Amino acid sequence: FDLRNEDLRDLHELGQGNGGSVKRVEHVPTGTHMAKKIVLIDAKPSVRKQILRELQIMHDCRSRYIISFYGAFLADPNICICMEFMDKGSLDGIYKKIGAIELDIVGMVALAVLEGLTYLYDVHRIIHRDIKPSNILCNSRGEIKICDFGVSGELINSIADTFVGTSTYMSPERIQGAQYTVKSDVWSLGISLIELALGHFPFAESSSDDSDLSDLEDFESTLSPARPGSMGSIAALSFTPSSLPPSKKKSKANNSEKTKKDKRKSKGVSLQGGGMTMSILELLQHIVNEPAPRLTPEGRFPAHAVHFVDSCLFKDPDARMTPKELLKYEWIELTRNATVDVEAWANTF
Ligand code: ATP
Ligand code: MG
Repeated sequence: FDLRNEDLRDLHELGQGNGGSVKRVEHVPTGTHMAKKIVLIDAKPSVRKQILRELQIMHDCRSRYIISFYGAFLADPNICICMEFMDKGSLDGIYKKIGAIELDIVGMVALAVLEGLTYLYDVHRIIHRDIKPSNILCNSRGEIKICDFGVSGELINSIADTFVGTSTYMSPERIQGAQYTVKSDVWSLGISLIELALGHFPFAESSSDDSDLSDLEDFESTLSPARPGSMGSIAALSFTPSSLPPSKKKSKANNSEKTKKDKRKSKGVSLQGGGMTMSILELLQHIVNEPAPRLTPEGRFPAHAVHFVDSCLFKDPDARMTPKELLKYEWIELTRNATVDVEAWANTF
């Protein structure tokens, strides 16, 4: 059906992210409940229209592992994206409420994400680009689906230009400026699975006390020069303390003098939540230079699961498998054949 903003009645807010907010709404003519994502886009009308056109691909994305799409429209200065409402919310909210998630459910999450990624890539040549627990949703029927994938190149650009993201699920090769591939999503999946199984974000130990910038500058010199989404996004990441209002979060990071100064200022900024004490740059440096996190402690998790997660987190993208290859891993096959009752689990909270 044709979606019009006038037909949507706001119910309540579901959450806020870097790019905007999400509300539960009712489509009054049909009584359908939807999630309406409102993205503030600072772009020319022609670019907005282009984004809207690109988003239409989502109409063709049909899979039980992908959130369904009802439509998108402009509501100046915002773009509204209406999608299937998932009544149990995202997995970050779930584990923060109930604690570490049992491993057979984590296995079902891995299976759903791999199936969703394989569908997006095989059928539509879409790379997700933002796999993390807040983009994996669950409902009381026990369905697990992914949302917020990168269908619109223009939308990705506009958000990258406008907002400061904490891309802490970013793979080492992406941090260093390499192209996005479907294997970057696999890294992000590995980090997300550890987070769900442990009940906290896996990079949490290092402290940000040290104010010596030399290590930071060494690190910066290892990065490739400003390619979109590499140096640019790191400068953007580092340059705005999270306390600034959104309007100040714009990054024109390529102004070298200013950027350098702002980077210094950012050194002390700590990530909030999950007990994190690393600054964003320290974290990115850690991801590039240190061994990947694992499902630990030794012995707590079955070997198949540990092996699977290790394979998602090969630092060399050439060694890392694709989602399709990972679907054949033993842990995933075992999960597929086990009858894990996600519906019963989802109705315990
Ligand atoms: P970021 O902006 O960094 O990607 P995010 O994914 O948390 O972070 P949003 O995509 O704006 O930000 O989503 C905000 C919150 O809204 C999510 O954390 C999720 O809990 C909730 N949400 C999003 N889509 C839906 C949906 N379809 N059904 C139910 N809840 C949703
Ligand atoms: Mg999201």
